[in-house]
Amino acid sequence: MRDIFHIYGTDGFEMTQSLLTAIEPEKLIPSQSSKIALKPNLVVAAKPDGGATTHPEIVIAIIEYLKVRGFHNISIVESAWVGDSTKRAFEVNGYYTIGKTYDVRLVDVKDDAYVAKTVHGVPFEISKTIMETDFLISLPVLKGHCQTSMTCALKNMKGCVSDRSKRHSHSIGLHKPIAALNALRCADLVIVDSLNGDLDFEEGGNPVQTDRIFACRDSVLCDTYGASLMGFEVEDIDYILLAERFGVGTTNLDFANIIFLNEPSEIAPLPLPTGKAIYLNQYIDSRSACSACHGTLLHALKRLDEVNQLGSRFDRKICVGQEFKTVQDPSRAGVGTCTGGLGKSVPGCPPTALAMLEFLKSL
Ligand code: SF4
Repeated sequence: MRDIFHIYGTDGFEMTQSLLTAIEPEKLIPSQSSKIALKPNLVVAAKPDGGATTHPEIVIAIIEYLKVRGFHNISIVESAWVGDSTKRAFEVNGYYTIGKTYDVRLVDVKDDAYVAKTVHGVPFEISKTIMETDFLISLPVLKGHCQTSMTCALKNMKGCVSDRSKRHSHSIGLHKPIAALNALRCADLVIVDSLNGDLDFEEGGNPVQTDRIFACRDSVLCDTYGASLMGFEVEDIDYILLAERFGVGTTNLDFANIIFLNEPSEIAPLPLPTGKAIYLNQYIDSRSACSACHGTLLHALKRLDEVNQLGSRFDRKICVGQEFKTVQDPSRAGVGTCTGGLGKSVPGCPPTALAMLEFLKSL
């Protein structure tokens, strides 16, 4: 339960297959006839390049991996947020073709039967399909959220309840309902799409390329790790702490065994920043940077901006990228092992946003 498998790259299908080979979920699933549910994040009917929704190639990689090993009772279960259509989200992301090609059932939770349960004082109408699932694989996108700061494994479960339950959760503040829902049913395995999650909003619009996928069996540990990658202390996110208190998992990252399957050595061309990222990018001197390093720096700068500590803090831009490997300049500061020759630098390949944040605060 304490393993976190982490991989860098740009090919979601290959990365997911490599993760699954390392995790060996076939040893975790009770039997070949077990009911398996895949729960992507299709909060809105939008393609994943906007930073809101799960890349479908991750879903396809899991289905192919499981089918080859004799697991055929697979469903894809999701509901878009209140006001959008899950079916449109399925359509836009090619899920009807996936369903047909692989003989996988699509379940729109908005049409599903519900089981009524009250947990820690919070009433839910939860999908019957989810409650009858033997092995639940959650596929959240690590991204920002306007009310809860971030969203990952724990909040992804909100797509498993009725729209009425979603509205009620918002009316009483999201944190307790998210934690309570996971005490009722949490994922058995989480595979996090952190290829280009949004900086700010769960509905996307400010995607930040970070080119990574990570996986964990403990949803609380998974979100604690995800928070660190976005520059948050776990104390910043109430629902993660509450979920730990409700017995869903642990926030103790020291207890985690983080297994990197590769390094982010490949330099993918960075996409042009959009939205808020354009503003943050003016503080970065990026030269042949891996997207994992550059994207993580954007998240760290965002955290500083939220507490009004960005402004005129830096005389010069923060350096990032492999071209700095040969630069010796005592007057500059940079992030990542490649900038070790500069006057000030935070090590790591790449460092987490939390480590970058501490470093930036110290400048
Ligand atoms: S430290 Fe260098 S090699 Fe490592 S992620 Fe950053 S830019 Fe890439």
